[in-house]
Amino acid sequence: MAVKVGIPRALLFYLYYPMWQAFFNEIGVQVIPSGRTTKSILDDGIREALADVCVPIKLYYGHVTDLKGKVDYLFIPRVVCLNGKTVYCPKFLGLPDMIRYSVDNLPPIIDVRMDSRQGRFSLLKAYIEIGKYFGAGKITSIKAYLKALGVHYRFNRLLRKGFSPLEAMEILKNPRTAKAGSATTKVNLKFAVLGYPYAIYDSFISVNILERLRQLGVRVMTAENIHPALLSLQRNCDLPKRLFWTLSDVALKAAHLLFKRGRIDGILHITAFACGPDSLLNKLIELKAKQYRNVPFMTLMIDEHTGEAGIATRLEAFVDMVRRRKEAESCRK
Ligand code: SF4
Repeated sequence: MAVKVGIPRALLFYLYYPMWQAFFNEIGVQVIPSGRTTKSILDDGIREALADVCVPIKLYYGHVTDLKGKVDYLFIPRVVCLNGKTVYCPKFLGLPDMIRYSVDNLPPIIDVRMDSRQGRFSLLKAYIEIGKYFGAGKITSIKAYLKALGVHYRFNRLLRKGFSPLEAMEILKNPRTAKAGSATTKVNLKFAVLGYPYAIYDSFISVNILERLRQLGVRVMTAENIHPALLSLQRNCDLPKRLFWTLSDVALKAAHLLFKRGRIDGILHITAFACGPDSLLNKLIELKAKQYRNVPFMTLMIDEHTGEAGIATRLEAFVDMVRRRKEAESCRK
């Protein structure tokens, strides 16, 4: 029977799961993701995690708990830097230790450090290190890594086409399901939803915001749908230096690009309660929004107590306001 590795359905799951799964499968290891977020997974996370961490980290704890007893290993890499420039938030760096020392009776944790600033082949070396846990030789791990990179490339191409990470994962599994969006209502507005992928795409914690917008007749785009080359043109976003944190940097660059182009009807920023980097990021996006008042902007904060009714009311009011404004503008023309 194949060894089973558990991957929590949280944090970088939404950006790297297909790649990680391909790598493990290629070296003969079965991958088990945790289940979709439910109230009980969130409650488990709240119980296990420190009280003052952000909700995405609490959720991660919940997903780790969900995998307890079902897998032989847990994959919780110490992700520091994957692009040679920016680093992940400090919570990512300490994640394996936080989990190891606060959740009891866990299987061994694969906590390989991934830091592409350590040299050209540092990520490849990290994957060779992972392979060693399962007795995979260097050549086998290199081949598996190259295959995983190919899957990652295809996954990212699907994201650029407008699919969400979960849709893209489904298409990779079964290419016949390639059908963009699930809107049933007439679409006449286009919004950008910015924020951390794990906050936006976890439909439980985001109160299903993407689907709600689609049902309100709004086509949604996110930073993951924008080509990285376009984002990198934004350089430091009028700041003396770039933001340190990878995902904050991407969200800020996407906000700059979208405000400047003005080809969208509204921008929503989803921010997580108790997120350190967000306290700065949200302010920077707000300042940009004041500069480009022609693009309506709203911030929505999520936490473990986020109620569906509150979010739904605010979303409907925002969409309604943007729609009326657009209609008034087209009447004036
Ligand atoms: S960036 Fe914010 S939301 Fe994400 S893990 Fe760090 S503190 Fe939490």
